[in-house]
Amino acid sequence: MAQAPQKKCPICGKPMVEEFKPFCSKRCADIDLNRWLTGNYVIPARDDELIDEGEDEF
Ligand SMILES: [Zn+2]
Repeated sequence: MAQAPQKKCPICGKPMVEEFKPFCSKRCADIDLNRWLTGNYVIPARDDELIDEGEDEF
């Protein structure tokens, strides 16, 4: 009798509404779109090439 877990809106956490999937409303969809457009989804820069650990445990 367990219901499938309801997906939640990534913006506000309310239950997802099929029409605005994966958001709960057009408002949240707009908010998400705006984040993309304004560049708020910033991927942190990483200096992967500067790994300088002297210990290799074999
Ligand atoms: Zn929402």
